[in-house]
Amino acid sequence: MKSDAQASEIRTLHLGLAGWPLGHSFSPCLHNAALAALSLAGEYRLFPIPPLPEGQEALARLLDRVRKGELHGLNVTIPHKQNVLPLLDELTPAARLAGAANTLYMKDGRLVGDNTDVPGFLADLQRAGFIPTGAGEKRALVLGAGGAGRGVGYALAQAGWQVWISARRPEQARALANSLLAISTAIQSLPWQPEAWPDGCDLVVNATPLGMFPDVESSPWPLGLPFPAGACVYDLVYNPPETRLARQARSAGLRAATGLGMLVEQAALAFETWSGQAAPRQAMWEAVLAEQEKP
Ligand code: NAP
Repeated sequence: MKSDAQASEIRTLHLGLAGWPLGHSFSPCLHNAALAALSLAGEYRLFPIPPLPEGQEALARLLDRVRKGELHGLNVTIPHKQNVLPLLDELTPAARLAGAANTLYMKDGRLVGDNTDVPGFLADLQRAGFIPTGAGEKRALVLGAGGAGRGVGYALAQAGWQVWISARRPEQARALANSLLAISTAIQSLPWQPEAWPDGCDLVVNATPLGMFPDVESSPWPLGLPFPAGACVYDLVYNPPETRLARQARSAGLRAATGLGMLVEQAALAFETWSGQAAPRQAMWEAVLAEQEKP
C-alpha cells in the first residue's frame, strides 16, 4: 500500500516511535541505518508518551502531527498499540484482526494503522526454518495473549496452523481464541497450567515478557518440564540476545530463536511502506547487532 509520503516522492522522512518506556528501543538504530543506507534525509525520533489516561492528549497531538504531514510515519509500541485504534481513520486487515496497530501513515488523506508484527513474525519463522514443510497439520502453542500474542495468534491462524493459546488470565486467552475463530476453527484456549499444554506440537511461542531484561532468569517454561518432542521454540523476547527459554530449549536438543529477526523484519516492512523503497535489511541487521553489543 502506498503512503501519501511515498506517493508524493518525499525525500526527507520524519519518522518516530510512540511508547513508554522507550529507553532501550532498537528502533531508532534500525530506521536511521535504513535512511543512511539509502541516502535519504530525515530522522527517526522517540516520542515517550505515558500510559493512559495521563498520555491521552499527548498521543492525540502526536497523531495530529502525522495527519498534518509533519511526520511521515509513526511506529507505536507498548502500551499504545491498542490505544491508537479509536484515533485512526482506517485499519489494514492485519491491524483489525490482530486488534493492534504498530505502523501509522497517511494514505489518501486518511490516517491508516497497519500491523507489521504479523508478517514480521511469519517472515522470521520462515527465515529460521521453523515452518514444517510436510503436508500434515502444523500445531503451535502460544504463551501469552497480550498485544504480541494477538498478532502471533492471528498470523498463525491465517497461515493455517492449529493454535493453542495459554495465558495466566484465562479470560484473556479465551477472548483471543474466540476472536480468531473468525479466521479458523482450529483455535483453542488452554489454562496457564503446564499439565494442560499439549505433548505434541511443532512450535512453542513465548509472547509474554518472561525472560526479558532485567528479569533474565525467568522463563514461561517450568524447569524440568519436557518440551514437546521435536518442537521449535520461538521467543519474542530479544533482550538478552539468548533468553533463558532459548537456552532451555537448546539444551533439550531443540531449535530455538529469539525475537530480533522479527524486530528487524517488522521495522523493514514499516520502512518500505513509508519510503516506497526496498528496505536495506543487511544494513539494518548490521546496525542492530552492533547496538546489541554495546554495554
Ligand atoms: P503485553 O500486551 O503486556 O502482553 C503480555 C502477555 O504476557 C499478557 O498475556 C500478560 O498477561 C502475560 N504476562 C505478563 N507477565 C507475565 C508473567 N509474569 N507470567 C505469565 N504471563 C505474563 O505485552 P506484548 O506487547 O504482548 O509483549 C510481550 C513480549 O513480546 C514483550 O517482551 C515484548 O518485548 C515482546 N515483543 C517482541 C516483538 C519483536 O519484534 N520481537 C514484538 C512485539 C512484542 P497479563 O495481561 O495478565 O499481564
